[in-house]
Amino acid sequence: MSIFKIHNTLGNKKEEFIPIDKDHIRIYACGPTVYNYAHIGNARMAVVCDLLVRFMRSIYPKVTYVSNITDIDDKIINASLETNTPIKELTAKYEKVYNQDMGELGVLKPDIQPRATDHIKEMISLIDQLIKQNNAYVSDNHVLFNVSSYKNYGLLSGRNKEDQIAGSRVEVADYKNNSGDFVLWKPSSEDQPGWDSPWGKGRPGWHIECSAMSEKTLSLPFDIHGGGLDLTFPHHENEIAQSCAAHKFDDPQDYAKYWIHNGFVTMDGEKMSKSLGNIFLVNDLLKKYPGETLRLSLISSHYRQPLNWNSKIIEQAQKNLDRIYRILKDNENISIDENIHVPDNVVDALSDDLNTSKAMFEINLIADKLSKSNNKNKSALKGELVSSGKILGLFQQSPSEWLKYGKTNNNIDSNFIEELILKRNKAREVKNFQEADKIRDELTNINIEIEDTIDGTIWRSKN
Ligand SMILES: [Zn+2]
Repeated sequence: MSIFKIHNTLGNKKEEFIPIDKDHIRIYACGPTVYNYAHIGNARMAVVCDLLVRFMRSIYPKVTYVSNITDIDDKIINASLETNTPIKELTAKYEKVYNQDMGELGVLKPDIQPRATDHIKEMISLIDQLIKQNNAYVSDNHVLFNVSSYKNYGLLSGRNKEDQIAGSRVEVADYKNNSGDFVLWKPSSEDQPGWDSPWGKGRPGWHIECSAMSEKTLSLPFDIHGGGLDLTFPHHENEIAQSCAAHKFDDPQDYAKYWIHNGFVTMDGEKMSKSLGNIFLVNDLLKKYPGETLRLSLISSHYRQPLNWNSKIIEQAQKNLDRIYRILKDNENISIDENIHVPDNVVDALSDDLNTSKAMFEINLIADKLSKSNNKNKSALKGELVSSGKILGLFQQSPSEWLKYGKTNNNIDSNFIEELILKRNKAREVKNFQEADKIRDELTNINIEIEDTIDGTIWRSKN
């Protein structure tokens, strides 16, 4: 078995993955704040973590994957006011949409998807502990974490004290003792959602949610913590500080051992942002493209690299999937050898910090071999192709369904179409192109599109 190497943001290097308990791998990723539709950047994080989880499941007997739902946040409160929708209704709606959209992208639902509002008790007790240990203080109805009380603050993001001071000149709320201190609990007015606490009616800060929920669902330490690159600082840095300080851990790895962060999705080199108006919503994209095409586009480059989102990568992914599904369709009657495992070359590629582009290269080589093979190897090659696809969350649909083969809206018998195609191919063989073109026209008239590919002639209904 090849060694799984993973790039750990903590230490900023690729290292061998050594599980805390090889019988049970535990993974946490920061989930969405549910107040609007997820964009393609959110989707990249979900797909990358899903890929990691699928790969880990192919190696280890048990994997628990937790990804939370942030259902209390100032952005949610604002969206609720703007749209005149009760918070519960708003968050329930977008939680559902998020899970549906991610499902379309082949993201398996996390084993546990805890909601922040179901864990207020745990957050309060964690904050209480931090105050008792002088890691946090109450000021002006807020509770703040005292950053200087955790000596390894900044280790994850590589920010030194000077960076922190420089960054903090921007704005310093007067209830903070030090500029870097961050909110654990904040007061809620009468019309804002709030919970009773030793510090008055209020609501939690965002960072404390993940500390409380990851500990509750996975216990500490757990193996891998994931999220988008933009969460490294301050969110993940603050998570580490809170959890480690509360438990008197010095070493951030006593909270989570490996930290992985996926790169940004950019649009022609520019970061996606509301102000630039270049945000692509998954929900909109799914109206235009199959989820599997978007999934392959998202994993077409290495997860740590920035991904430049454009129509070219979507087209390329679509072509690649069309081709593989065509090959699978041609080999529809070949039964898969159940003993076939994912080939070493694919496993090696993924073991190298989830190198998906290398894995896809290897998978395309298997597809080539399958398309050219006409011997008993077919069963093994098809098995290799399908099992490799399963790890990547690809090629699991029926090829006919994908290619819309034999699907006609006008009740045309597919045998009739196959016969016409056969007649056309025969005409072409004897170079009777007039006859061949006539048959093509006949098919066009009944809305059937044909395409001559290196793997044979395929057809599909135009609508
Ligand atoms: Zn988080």
